[in-house]
Amino acid sequence: MTEAIDVDLCVIGAGAGGLSVAAGASQMGATVALFERGVMGGDCLNVGCVPSKALLAAGHAAHHARTGHRFGLDMSVAPADWHRVREHVRSVIAAIAPMDSVERYEGFGVRVIQADARFVGAREVEGGGVRVKAKFVVIATGSAPSVPPIPGLADVPYLTNESVFELDSRPEHLLVLGGGAIGTELAQAHARLGCKVTLVEAARLLGAEDPEAAEVVRLSLQRDGVTIREGISVKAVARGDADAVALTLDGPDGAETVGGSHLLVAAGRKVTFEGLDLDRAGIETDKRGRLVVDARLRTSNRRVFAVGDAAGGPQFTHVAGAHAGVVIKNTLFRLPAKADHSGVPRVTYSAPELAQVGPTEAELRESGTRFEVLRWAYAENDRAQAERALDGFTKALLAPNGRILGATVVGEAAGELISVWGLAIAQRLKIGALAGLTVPYPTRTEVIRRAAGSWYVPKLFSDRTKAVVRFLMRFA
Ligand SMILES: Cc1cc2nc3c(=O)[nH]c(=O)nc-3n(C[C@H](O)[C@H](O)[C@H](O)COP(=O)(O)OP(=O)(O)OC[C@H]3O[C@@H](n4cnc5c(N)ncnc54)[C@H](O)[C@@H]3O)c2cc1C
Repeated sequence: MTEAIDVDLCVIGAGAGGLSVAAGASQMGATVALFERGVMGGDCLNVGCVPSKALLAAGHAAHHARTGHRFGLDMSVAPADWHRVREHVRSVIAAIAPMDSVERYEGFGVRVIQADARFVGAREVEGGGVRVKAKFVVIATGSAPSVPPIPGLADVPYLTNESVFELDSRPEHLLVLGGGAIGTELAQAHARLGCKVTLVEAARLLGAEDPEAAEVVRLSLQRDGVTIREGISVKAVARGDADAVALTLDGPDGAETVGGSHLLVAAGRKVTFEGLDLDRAGIETDKRGRLVVDARLRTSNRRVFAVGDAAGGPQFTHVAGAHAGVVIKNTLFRLPAKADHSGVPRVTYSAPELAQVGPTEAELRESGTRFEVLRWAYAENDRAQAERALDGFTKALLAPNGRILGATVVGEAAGELISVWGLAIAQRLKIGALAGLTVPYPTRTEVIRRAAGSWYVPKLFSDRTKAVVRFLMRFA
């Protein structure tokens, strides 16, 4: 028998986006039903951001021990005990999981239904024996790994982000297909934990990023022992003779074969709505199967919204969280809030990290925008010297009037530093605001202040200034 309930908001999917909508709306007094067919917390907690950063942290720890001689220390590092590394990753997830748990959400008064949901009407969703009639429905169903149609791939065992964190022994030779953020992070984590790693990328490593910044990351991965094959596509995949899997690459000198013990497919994400029965709610998708959403995140059914990866924009947890705010304003408060992706920062958590906010230099050039570039190197920062983490720089892109348009940071803690540029861009600040900032010494934030200050250097140390100072000193 089906139970019928009426709520203000019905949310499908308990990942970053759905949970943020459910937590916010319920604590503001709305009645909320939340469907989740898998594990609470979605991709970010279980198979995405959290395990990847935990695995990277283990890799960085091994790297620091191995390179302790830089600090006058000699440490020996035993080969990674993969079982214990996996336990470390699991325990990080377990430490965060209570924040996303059924119990916590039921504590907010949310009706959590652990089942696959589908539309049965314009505002009706059903699953797990419960039919929910809602004033508004929010699709927060996320994305899944995209598996390219390479001949033979379907016939070999391969890993994705959904299975790679579950390995119980160290992969001897990991082949990574894809050099975006996910492929880059996982290639470095495995290399630093003692695996042989070969990364194959059809275009360029971190191809969406500033090429100079990506180069800093590329050199670091190579120092870690990652073999990077860029501009090469994989023609076929097969079981190898001695190896578990063999890739046939379309190399510059013709076809060549690279064998490995494991294959990780990190070739992008796909968004699908299979089984949701969108047509029952009159929800349109475009030719590529993506939801048609407006700036207010409304689908073609004005009572149904989409958030997070499902909405088709940038695929980040912080974007999903921001989307939740937009939907809450639109549904609970009837405010015409819009999603704005222009100032969304992104970070690749390699060592060094690569962070971007606003357009890159290449994007500004392409759009014909007039701009100026300011930069400062980590090597000129005392904290970076003290910690022997000299690789990296920041680059700021300014309009002719000094307004900050975009910024890149590559280097240690770039993911933290980028927020300073992000705030400046969001507040439409001019570079003087950062040049005049007093920042604690010695911190890497000085890299930003010094880059900002360099805007004034030609004026400040000009012959004209010198003449003015000499003149004034006569009367001092
Ligand atoms: C390896 C990896 C690393 C990443 N690292 C970062 C990072 O460092 N920083 C960052 O910002 N982002 C990162 N991301 C991206 C981030 O994980 C996603 O952008 C984020 O999880 C999107 O949240 P979401 O709520 O849209 O979807 P999800 O987290 O995917 O949640 C969707 C949920 O919906 C459920 N669901 C789907 N269909 C149904 C249905 N019909 N009925 C019921 N439930 C359903 C699913 O089971 C899932 O739990 C990473 C992703 C990966 C794969």
